[in-house]
Amino acid sequence: MMNLTSPAVISELMAAHQLHFNKQFGQNFLIDQNILEKIVDAGHITAADTVLEIGPGIGSMTQEIAMRARRVVTVEIDKKLISVLGETLGDFDNIAIVNQDFLKTDVLDLIEGPTSLKVVANLPYYITTPIIMKLLETPWPDGIDLSRMTFLVQKEVGERICAGPGSKSYGALSVIVQYYADPAVMFTVPASVFMPRPKVDSIVISLQKRTQQAFEPCDKNQFFKVVKAAFQTRRKTVINSLSNNTAYPKAVLLDALCEAGIDPRKRAEQLDGEAFCKLANILYQKGA
Ligand code: SAM
Repeated sequence: MMNLTSPAVISELMAAHQLHFNKQFGQNFLIDQNILEKIVDAGHITAADTVLEIGPGIGSMTQEIAMRARRVVTVEIDKKLISVLGETLGDFDNIAIVNQDFLKTDVLDLIEGPTSLKVVANLPYYITTPIIMKLLETPWPDGIDLSRMTFLVQKEVGERICAGPGSKSYGALSVIVQYYADPAVMFTVPASVFMPRPKVDSIVISLQKRTQQAFEPCDKNQFFKVVKAAFQTRRKTVINSLSNNTAYPKAVLLDALCEAGIDPRKRAEQLDGEAFCKLANILYQKGA
């Protein structure tokens, strides 16, 4: 098996295939085997799992996952990397390499059930949120049991996803992701373990997909809209933010906040997902 975290091996492979790191695709490859193994450890992969990886690059993490999982499905947008992956992953018979843009892929076509499914990925940072939202919002059928997702992401984005009320990173992204999953920060990763070095630090987070939501909005999209509007002007009180950023009349909002037991002078960052859900449901029922 090739040592794919060695900078010399990476440079050789790139030269042999006449490749350059494609900035546009967020190509920063891991060059630290310990960190790579730590990320895969955080994925809690078992020999029964199918693992979905987004953005294998030259396949360094894919190799490590394939040694632990039943099957790996890895989706890479850059067709120039597909021939490299054919070479680096050629010895494995449990890896499916898919040359597609993950955001345009019908992900349900890729995973054959019944299976337990996990996701492990060093994400391209320019599309972190849409990738995570796609995975969370996919209507996984019975028989495909998605539980844990482990991502290497830009530190600031990972902190926003995992933040709770009262923290300065807490925002609409925290509330929306936490509606679907229970997130946790695993460990931080310095820029020095990537080739080429990104300008930002990174963090590994895990998302444990909820089997049951803690609260149920009447209309999920309306709930998300209320949350986004409340955080749009986060320094303002929740009443001012919502009346500036939604079509609801101020009097209706005041009534709804009062009914939900929320002090209208509070700020969005002081409210948890359940409070937002209560408020959104009251507004929904008022038909306002
Ligand atoms: N997994 C490798 C590693 O850890 O060294 C590479 C990670 S690199 C940060 C992100 C990878 O995602 C690149 O290989 C890039 O080409 C790929 N990528 C970027 N956009 C993508 C998309 N829309 N769909 C699938 N892969 C994508």
